Amino acid sequence: MIENARRHVEIPQHERGRVTFGSVDSRLRPAVEAGARLASRYTHAALLPKVDAVYRPSERPAYGDGVIRMDESASESEIMHEVTHGTEVQNPAVLAAAVAFLRHRAGTERPQRLRDLTGREDYRLDEYAYEDQFAVAEPGSGCKKLTN
Ligand SMILES: [Zn+2]
Repeated sequence: MIENARRHVEIPQHERGRVTFGSVDSRLRPAVEAGARLASRYTHAALLPKVDAVYRPSERPAYGDGVIRMDESASESEIMHEVTHGTEVQNPAVLAAAVAFLRHRAGTERPQRLRDLTGREDYRLDEYAYEDQFAVAEPGSGCKKLTN
C-alpha cells in the first residue's frame, strides 16, 4: 500500500538524479543507498544533496552539518527523511518554502514537545512538532496524527 501511495507523488523518471555521497561508513552503505534512492524519487535531480554517513550505535537517525548519524537499524524511510533535511539545508529556497508551508499549515497551533506527542523518551527536550491533522487516525488503522 505504501508503494502505491509513493507512485502517486513521485517525480517523472527523467527528472531524477542521485544523492552525492562523501564519506559513508561501509556498514551503512547499503541502507544509505536505499534511502537515497527513495529520496531521489521525490526530489528533482538539481536539488539532491551531498551527504556523509557516520555510524552511531543505538541512536535515532539524525542529520546535521551534511552528516547523517545512524546505525544499521535505520529504515529506508528514516534515511530518506534525513537525506531530505540535507536537501532543505543545502537549498535555502527549499528550506524557506518548507518553513512557509509548515507555518501556513500549522495556523495558530502551537508546537509541542515530541516527547509529549509521542510518549517516547528518546526525543530531546528541545525537539518540538505540531500535532497536525495530516494523517487522521481511523479506528484500528494505527495511523498517528503526527508529522515530524
Ligand atoms: Zn526530521
